[in-house]
Amino acid sequence: MATTPSFWSPRIAGLQPYVPGEQPRIANLVKLNTNENPFPPSPKAIAAITHAASQGLERYPDPESVALRAAIAARHGLRIEQVFAGNGSDEVLAHAFFAFFQQAEPLLIPDTTYSFYRVYAQLYGIACELQPVDDGLRIDAEALSQRARRGCAGIVIANPNAPTGIGLPLADIERLLAACPERVVLVDEAYVDFGGESAMPLIDRHPNLLVVHTLSKSRSLAGLRVGFACGQASLVDALQRVKNSFNSYPIDRLASAGAIAAIEDQEWFDKTRRDVVDIREGLTLQLEDMGFEVLPSQANFLFVRHPSHDASTLVAALRERAVLVRHFRQPRIDQHLRISIGTRAQCSALIDALAQILG
Ligand SMILES: *Cc1c(COP(=O)(O)O)cnc(C)c1O
Repeated sequence: MATTPSFWSPRIAGLQPYVPGEQPRIANLVKLNTNENPFPPSPKAIAAITHAASQGLERYPDPESVALRAAIAARHGLRIEQVFAGNGSDEVLAHAFFAFFQQAEPLLIPDTTYSFYRVYAQLYGIACELQPVDDGLRIDAEALSQRARRGCAGIVIANPNAPTGIGLPLADIERLLAACPERVVLVDEAYVDFGGESAMPLIDRHPNLLVVHTLSKSRSLAGLRVGFACGQASLVDALQRVKNSFNSYPIDRLASAGAIAAIEDQEWFDKTRRDVVDIREGLTLQLEDMGFEVLPSQANFLFVRHPSHDASTLVAALRERAVLVRHFRQPRIDQHLRISIGTRAQCSALIDALAQILG
């Protein structure tokens, strides 16, 4: 058991920090456990990073990340005042929790979603109320909006949701927005580029909507750490205030250069995400042939269970065959596996390993 030294703040002693999927330093692993993109980033992003590394690193970067925010704004049809950029969307989410959800009422989040949300809430002392997903593990937008109408600190959802991959239609997002007009509805669209419906077009009509994106998944830049939030200027102002009270320079020169080039390379983006979706559809059919139940995914991963094979046994057997997938020891989903979409070769290796295991 960890000790709790007497010089820790009381809240730190009580934290249960997020545990990311493992990043083992073993060669030749088929790594399908952390939803990284199996394809490399745009070659133009790599060239831009190399160029940026060759000049100017002795200087601080632009604290306001104007060039990056302008590139994001242009891509999403927004104004630069409507874009906030941070060091990974995890940092953007943390600032949003701090900026918007420290209120008297509880924050509403689904009981099955990205587990970091509860960690931020704990870090900032925000009470959370967990809204059960339905029997099909879908977010119940009707129940959530009914609950929100009775008062809340705000709503946080991932759309498509993690770790299920299931997307909500925009009509449901609009319902949530209407149910708590006085509070922020944060829609984390980390996976939206793989087939979800983005809420970006709703921003101009909804002052309480904050849409969060990352370059870690669909832009293959998990190692660069860039994420952003879009919303009306008053929400972005609040995030800037938190940022400027925490770290004035969250986006370094290399990250900014690489992110801008990646955002501008539409062709690479479209090709790689199309490939991921094609591979996902093929893998779904193969897993179903093996008897797995596969939730309908709009993301770059599948959430599956086998009616006659225990999930932790499967994870261990896959691991012995050098295939890593993610398993959550959480109520409701402890018999599911989350499988990130790999290259065609990686997915074949997964299928071969499962064929051996299932016999
Ligand atoms: C991966 C992920 C993130 C974190 O993205 P980073 O930009 O790498 O910090 C945020 N939300 C969800 C739902 C994710 O799956």
